[in-house]
Amino acid sequence: MKHRKNIIVGNWKMNTEVKSGINLAKQILDLSDNITNVEKIICPPFVSLTSIAKVLKGSSIQLGAQNVNANENGAFTGEVSTAMLHGLVSHVVLGHSERRMFYDESSDQVSEKAISASKAGITPILCVGEDFSVRKSGKAVNFITKQLEASLQGFSNWQSLIIAYEPIWAIGTGEAATSGQAQEMAAVCRDIICSLTPDFSNSVHILYGGSVNSTNVTNFLEQPDIDGALVGGASLNAQEFSNLIRLASSK
Ligand code: PEP
Repeated sequence: MKHRKNIIVGNWKMNTEVKSGINLAKQILDLSDNITNVEKIICPPFVSLTSIAKVLKGSSIQLGAQNVNANENGAFTGEVSTAMLHGLVSHVVLGHSERRMFYDESSDQVSEKAISASKAGITPILCVGEDFSVRKSGKAVNFITKQLEASLQGFSNWQSLIIAYEPIWAIGTGEAATSGQAQEMAAVCRDIICSLTPDFSNSVHILYGGSVNSTNVTNFLEQPDIDGALVGGASLNAQEFSNLIRLASSK
């Protein structure tokens, strides 16, 4: 029997301008603020965080960022540090496959970011996932094991960590993993946590991400090692996102 409360995270990626982001946040708030027994987090672009923090103030919806620089401050043009996010967000998405792919982020960098975020009191939502060629070659378990271990190198704040298993071939494609595939990999992630820190293997939340919508989310949430979803496309539609939240609250 799962004792972990489900978490639904909306990753808005590089979508919405400040005004439309505020409107979306208000709609999500209207539709889902009163839904209990589920954690709700939205991750808008950096430029909207301050305005949306005001919208969400005092509500049950938490705010997350989509990335952070591991350094406290300094000559890193265009970057945002954990010190800047401190007090503004409660969570940060790290190691998303789009960052690993388009910005060459390595697992070493992801682990530095996770440690830095953690020190600033921000919970990392640490993403791992294999691409289609790895899956096809039957090496997904091996790949995820190495990627997650490397992304958690030196990390120690286990009470404040969320892992998201997001197979790249399922992100934004409309082709979600099967619940069996997602469960298998979530269990692999939990085994890794168990080998690193046995005391926390039952409390760390593991999410599934990749073409989640209100039609398929329940299949994932029913799995013993899946404790919620990281949602991209469907999080940009307030009604659909709230439907997801409602489904997660009853599991
Ligand atoms: C994501 O961006 O992390 C994601 C899972 O996207 P989508 O839900 O659109 O597949």
